[in-house]
Amino acid sequence: MNGRGFARAFGVAMAIAAPVLVSAPGAEAAVTTTIYLNPAGLPGYQAQLDQSIANWNAAVPNVKLVKRSTGTITFRQVSGGGSYTNTNGHGRGTIVIDTVQAGQYSPTRIIAHEIGHNLGLPDHYTGPCSELMSGHGPGTSCLNAKPDAREAAQVKQNFINGLAAVQEFKTVS
Ligand SMILES: [Zn+2]
Repeated sequence: MNGRGFARAFGVAMAIAAPVLVSAPGAEAAVTTTIYLNPAGLPGYQAQLDQSIANWNAAVPNVKLVKRSTGTITFRQVSGGGSYTNTNGHGRGTIVIDTVQAGQYSPTRIIAHEIGHNLGLPDHYTGPCSELMSGHGPGTSCLNAKPDAREAAQVKQNFINGLAAVQEFKTVS
């Protein structure tokens, strides 16, 4: 079968299948949410941002993080004051990275942690290094920049209905 024929056959199949999918009770929503991050404000940490994005994409199957100039998550570098984010916890926010702190702690872990807030995760400073949201809690020797299984499962659940949920913006570190 050539490509054109396959496309026609696929279109017919979709037209038939769509009403069945809509009416199927209990079917898990197969929604993949793409969230765009504008890297322009983070010139000193592009490799670390790339690694943070890769870590999240590997851990959560239904959320895809992509760098794009018109991203709904933006970045800013500051010197001192600590890293933090102002976010709605659902794919929109501003992440501020403190370059002084990034010289003490793993910058990849910091960036991945702040992205975690933008994906709806709260801080858990008393957690172990294996948790991303334990943040500075485990100390400067903690280099882990990957969410653990529980954190990844929570983000998957947070976006099970895509970007439908609307939440208030708040600032957390
Ligand atoms: Zn935090």
